[in-house]
Amino acid sequence: MSDTDTGVKLLVTGALGRMGQAVIRCAAADADVTVVHQIDVGDSLLSVLPNCDAVVDFSFHAFTGELLRGCAELGKSIVIGTTGHTDDEVNAIRTAAQKVPVVFAPNFSVGVNTLFWLSQKASEILGDGFDIEVVEMHHRLKKDAPSGTAKRLAEILAESRGLTYNEHAQHGREGIVGERPHQEIGVHALRGGDVVGDHTVTFAGIGERVELTHKASSRDTFANGAIRAAKWLRGKPAGLYDMQDVLELK
Ligand code: NAD
Repeated sequence: MSDTDTGVKLLVTGALGRMGQAVIRCAAADADVTVVHQIDVGDSLLSVLPNCDAVVDFSFHAFTGELLRGCAELGKSIVIGTTGHTDDEVNAIRTAAQKVPVVFAPNFSVGVNTLFWLSQKASEILGDGFDIEVVEMHHRLKKDAPSGTAKRLAEILAESRGLTYNEHAQHGREGIVGERPHQEIGVHALRGGDVVGDHTVTFAGIGERVELTHKASSRDTFANGAIRAAKWLRGKPAGLYDMQDVLELK
């Protein structure tokens, strides 16, 4: 970092990946932040962590534990964009958020967070006479399924009906599955090509259906959202926040 660098000092983890590269590129165009360190597999986290204000993480779910321990110990803010965490890893995020401020969001785009809000409203308005299915599509290199965004959509939709994701999400169908249980929430993952991220929520009733779709065409939308979250965290107390908090959609 040079004397002329200003703003929030960021450490980017997963820096060689698609999202890490997008964050570094977008941060270079934002005068309010500076990427002071970037690390990937094999680099030491603890040797560079003291020098940053916040970590922006788009790496791999299994790395989150190490990151949380370091940030909680050194009092660093964290923006977690990585998806695919186990329940234990999500619990570790909640525990760390008692010590430091954390933004944990499966999707940092303004459009998808609007889709979250619209999906909840549509579910409330349409009521349980409409069956809900969530379909997502991503590029062929994506490692986890369903996407964190599809999972969050299904959670929001389940909660809007007093249901739970774990009990009511149905991941794909095959064979003689019988009639569709009324409270089921279908979740389906398509993979192929270079699709950055598409999500559709279908509400299917008798005689009509409503579809809400978001399509991302550039990773910069996620990268800029994560940078916005890192700036928003400055001065915030410890706590677990999401992009709805950052965008003041709550
Ligand atoms: P990617 O595979 O291109 O990049 C991941 C990078 O993390 C790789 O360079 C890899 O070497 C690195 N990495 C893995 N383990 C690491 C470790 N222990 N320490 C440091 N670096 C490590 O993946 P991607 O497309 O950039 O996506 C990364 C993550 O972000 C995925 O979980 C993806 O689902 C998620 N994602 C989230 C959003 C969002 O808005 N929240 C948007 C896009 C992608």
